[in-house]
Formats: sequence, C-alpha cells, structure tokens
Amino acid sequence: MATSQNGWPVIFAADRDTKIDNGTILGTTFPSGFLAGDVKKAFVWLWTQLDRRVERIDNGTPLDEWGYNVREIEGSDDYSNHSSGTAGDYNARFHPMGVSNTYSEAERAEIRKILQEADGIFRWGGDYTGRPDDMHFEIIKGRDAVHAFVLTIEDGDGDMLVKKGDTGEEVKFWQHALSDLGYAVGEVDGEYGPKTEAAVNAQRASHGVGTLTYISGWGGLSILRAMMDRRAGKTGATGKTGATGSAGPAGPSGQIGPQGPAGELTGTLTVEGGTLSVTTGQAGV
Ligand SMILES: [Zn+2]
Repeated sequence: MATSQNGWPVIFAADRDTKIDNGTILGTTFPSGFLAGDVKKAFVWLWTQLDRRVERIDNGTPLDEWGYNVREIEGSDDYSNHSSGTAGDYNARFHPMGVSNTYSEAERAEIRKILQEADGIFRWGGDYTGRPDDMHFEIIKGRDAVHAFVLTIEDGDGDMLVKKGDTGEEVKFWQHALSDLGYAVGEVDGEYGPKTEAAVNAQRASHGVGTLTYISGWGGLSILRAMMDRRAGKTGATGKTGATGSAGPAGPSGQIGPQGPAGELTGTLTVEGGTLSVTTGQAGV
C-alpha cells in the first residue's frame, strides 16, 4: 500500500469521493478537502486557531487554502502528505514555499503554542530544517493520537460546563451568549431544553465538530472567543444622565456700578438787606 511521507495511506482518485471531506471551513470551501473523520476535525480546529489567534483566513480570490492532492514531494519519490489528505496549506498566497519568516516572531511563537496545544499531532512547514514552507501544516502522528486529540476538543476532556436538563443562572448565561451570537435559543429561561441543545450544536457545527448534549470546556471557550471577537473594538451604548448635583459656593462680590448722571439744581437767589439767602428747589433727577 502506498503511503505518504507520514505513513498515512495515499488516497487515489477512485476512493476520493468516499474518503475525502470537501466541507467548508470558516467560509472557505476546500475543493480538495481533508481525510474525513478525525483528520478533518483536527484541521478544522487548527484552521480556527490560526484564524482567531495568528492571521485571519484569507477567503479572497484566488482561493489559497489547499488540502488533498496526490503528488510527490519535489525532488523525491515520496508522496507528499497532501496525498493522504493529512496536510493543508493556509493563506498560501502570503506564505510562499521557500521563503523564511513570512510570519512575525510573535506569530511564529503563537503557531508553536497552538501546535503544542494539539498534543504534537501537527508539524508546521515553517519548522522544516531544509526549505521552509510557511503555508504548510501536516499530521505527523498516527490514527490513535489524532483520535485522542479530537476527543479532547469534542468533549473538553469530559469537562462539562452545563448539560441538557440543567436549570439556573449558568444556563441563562450561555443562552444569552448563544443568542447574542445569532443562534436561536427561544426564550432565555435558564432551562437547557431542546432549543438550547439545538443552538449549542449549531454553534459547534460552525466549527465542524459533532453534536453533544452539553457544553464542553472547549465548546464554552469557543463561544466566549466568538463573543470577544464580536464585541472587540465596538463603542458601547450611551450611559444614562447622572443625578442633579448640589448647589455650588457663593459667587464673589460685585463691582461698584458707574456714577449716575448729575442732577440739575433749581431755586432762587436773593439779596435782601445785606443778607444773601438761597432757596433751593428740588434737585433734578
Ligand atoms: Zn503544503
């Protein structure tokens, strides 16, 4: 049986339709897809992390995300891991093969952190010791390891936040969050019933992971990340008018006003027997 460089079986054209999953990831349709099942789920997770934490997936034209493709590694007779549907290229246009450090130092550090979180099932082409291939990510472990990892993202290590049948404030919190993200939860009533279950699973489907009857640790984190994305950078609503304040201190004394106009003097001036007498009239206004 022909295998690709990582040991996974090469999928030839005759089996393509049954073994390769062409589904959409983050709005990008992969015409070439990934090996259906755990490998596809692992790549949905990986692409989502890269998109959220490193660089937005580029959904422009031409399409520059690729998956399954039967071909030999350049300069070798080995089949590339793309031949088994276990490798993918991300934002290829910005990260051409053979060019070093197409990501910044901080982005490279984040990529390595993501790969660690994936329990080492992936290798990044940017870490090749030979010719670098920054666009390229591939599975480097076997089925059991990939399956074990997929269980952790699907079940959150069995870490349930809330489950079907639960009632209370915590259920309300997730109902509000899902509703805010546009998933129909019906009335926010704090009851994890069929509508909440459908909303949880619709949100999970958008990440390419299967249905559950509870919100797992991973699922909760993914809802919170989406909430942060949605809210980041938006201006909040205008606040309410404040209460009336108390009276301020007394103002300073005023200035003396300008002088008024002079009044007119009326009256009679008489001299009688050597005595001068003055009879004053009313002062004018
Ligand atoms: Zn590649």
